[in-house]
Amino acid sequence: MQGLMMHMPLLISSILDHAERHHPHVEVVSRRTEGDIHRSNYATIAKRARQLANKLTSEGVKKGENIATLAWNGYRHVEIYYAVSGMGAVVHTLNPRLFPEQLVYIINHAKDTTVFFDSTFAPLVKAVAPACPTVKRWVLMCDSDRMPADPPVAGLLNYEDFLKGQSDEFVWPQLDEQDASSLCYTSGTTGNPKGALYSHRSTVLHAMGACMPDALGISSRDAVMPVVPMFHVNAWGLPYIAAMVGAKMVMPGAGMDGESLYRLMEDEKVNFSAGVPTVWLGLLNYVQQNKLKFSTFRHTVIGGSACPPAMIKALNDLDVQVVHAWGMTELSPLGTVCRLNADHLELPLEKQREVLLRQGKVIYGVDMRIVNDDGEDLPWDGNAFGDLLVRGHWVINAYYGGEGEKAFSTDKEGKRWFSTGDVSKIHPDGYMQITDRSKDVIKSGGEWISSIDLENVAMAHPAVHEAAVIAVRHPKWDERPLLIVVKKPGAELTAKEMLHFYEGKVAKMSIPDAVEFVDEIPHTATGKIQKLKLRELFKDYQLT
Ligand code: ADP
Repeated sequence: MQGLMMHMPLLISSILDHAERHHPHVEVVSRRTEGDIHRSNYATIAKRARQLANKLTSEGVKKGENIATLAWNGYRHVEIYYAVSGMGAVVHTLNPRLFPEQLVYIINHAKDTTVFFDSTFAPLVKAVAPACPTVKRWVLMCDSDRMPADPPVAGLLNYEDFLKGQSDEFVWPQLDEQDASSLCYTSGTTGNPKGALYSHRSTVLHAMGACMPDALGISSRDAVMPVVPMFHVNAWGLPYIAAMVGAKMVMPGAGMDGESLYRLMEDEKVNFSAGVPTVWLGLLNYVQQNKLKFSTFRHTVIGGSACPPAMIKALNDLDVQVVHAWGMTELSPLGTVCRLNADHLELPLEKQREVLLRQGKVIYGVDMRIVNDDGEDLPWDGNAFGDLLVRGHWVINAYYGGEGEKAFSTDKEGKRWFSTGDVSKIHPDGYMQITDRSKDVIKSGGEWISSIDLENVAMAHPAVHEAAVIAVRHPKWDERPLLIVVKKPGAELTAKEMLHFYEGKVAKMSIPDAVEFVDEIPHTATGKIQKLKLRELFKDYQLT
């Protein structure tokens, strides 16, 4: 017998409807490429999203059609998110930090028909447009009086003109909750970029799961600043989560430097933010150099790469609580979040800090296991480590276009699992800890050395701005760790001092063999250390 409850499909349009009806005056504040601070609210966003849906319908945009964005975090981008998914088309966020040839590959692979872009990216549009035959409309997201005299493409359209004169009445279609809603490609650190095609259902469930107290814990009392870009896994779901709970949203636009972020946070009383470690480096430097304090900023979620302990401490010293989280494009992105449980609260502060460095526990809706090379389960004893597999409501079942099938496997019970490419251990209390990407792990004389542990130690040295560890060839040990360091401006540090700093902090066999000082460490399009590039740069490195 079936239950006698209503069935409402889990649709993205229902989030916007809810925000408009129940949190209409809650603000969405954006730093614009026009140079000013713009104020909107959920009622206005909803109205303009319907105008955009009307315009796109009149342009002939069909259900399932891919509509791309090349844009910063801002209110127009939010409107596009809701209008495009709401009408049944698919919003495809393009990462402007990718190389033009990668963007061309992705746009053609997705057969995008429209690209909305911010003026910052006009040169990029000019470079890629001739190689993107499927794109019928290039729409510049700016006020209509700001259109460039020398447009990057012929027939350039304007976002505000797009909305002008459009009715703000539009009935969102009752789609199937399994219909595709948005598309995001991985940055291709391991081969060609692959697409994760999210559904309405996965997106709504992810937003509900992610706002739970032991996850991101976001409520209507928060002023949330997504520093993580909307082109990086839908800003970790924050534009959906904030609207779902009625939280204020503060969008930094192109102002990603320490000073711009700090000013906006202070002016708009931001208390919650989220981003990858690299962006916090800039903010922290600015705050520390100018001896500033945060008046309202109290919580931040850091993920995307391992958060160095020194960063957690520096933020704690500024009264900001850091929540470490792990996720992937393929997981919409949230998988695990690290918050202390009741038992941990009894531990001394030092021990609590150790726990907080882990990637944390899965949230309801996701499950995980670790397996050895033969696919056999490994114990959750905090020692054994192996490949991390996940499954869940917001984990991909297949890549867009059917590539990458070897990342999936089926267990004895017939359950499908996705192999993350991460190597991790799980502690007896269920806290997961990433030790490496499977491609980054260092194999020295048959032992695995975690590059993350070594990077964390280096980052704690006061003279170190950024550090990365890679494996280099060794005649006896096969591979040994090489530490690559960017010093803080004006800081003095020798290789000997740096290596000495490791003594007593890690096992002797793990201490890097050598240190190389560089001016800059290359980053991926999502702000992570580009180990592939580093390995290329140091491929002939001779250990002496
Ligand atoms: P990309 O940036 O390569 O496009 P993702 O953003 O999906 O792709 O990156 C996911 C990967 O980032 C994970 O598989 C993991 O290796 C790494 N990662 C994410 N969060 C963390 C974390 N908290 N600690 C360590 N690694 C992390």
